[in-house]
Amino acid sequence: MNLKAKIRNIPDFPKKGILFKDITPLLKDSEALKEAIVKLADFFRDYEIDYVVGIEARGFLVGTPLAIELDRGFIPIRKPGKLPHEVLKKEYELEYGKNVLEIHKDAINEGDKILIIDDLLATGGTTYAASKMVEELGGEVVACGFLLELDFLNGREILKDYEVQSLLID
Ligand code: 5GP
Repeated sequence: MNLKAKIRNIPDFPKKGILFKDITPLLKDSEALKEAIVKLADFFRDYEIDYVVGIEARGFLVGTPLAIELDRGFIPIRKPGKLPHEVLKKEYELEYGKNVLEIHKDAINEGDKILIIDDLLATGGTTYAASKMVEELGGEVVACGFLLELDFLNGREILKDYEVQSLLID
């Protein structure tokens, strides 16, 4: 199936000048969804991974089914104020302004091998922050995986110390 055709471009969302990649048509199509998850999982089947970490919110939509496909557990990285137990908080820079992410401090143990999943790789800032959080808790980032990578934003540069696998590249 042409999975790229299931991702639509929405101009000027969430702000003027941004061409937003909307994955909801892919999520809605059962065959496309299954194929995307199985094929993304194929990259990682031979990797030594203990847990899949997904980044709120669309990273949950991809990361949780991927964790099931790989027979691994899932760990959420969330927006601030959502996780109920003790958290590690990380603030990071966006192109305009700042963002904050949180993870439960006891979610990762020393030496845990982690696969980080998000729906889309743009500048890489979000996944870079997530990687540092995993490492601060003693985990090892084995790889990062995405449904779609926006090549022109060169997110691989900031993630150069990590293995990056994207199912689709635009
Ligand atoms: P980055 O930190 O790599 O610049 O941005 C990636 C993050 O922003 C991901 O969490 C992703 O969900 C979100 N994001 C940025 N642009 C888009 C887009 O065009 N489409 C989707 N679906 N997510 C985006």
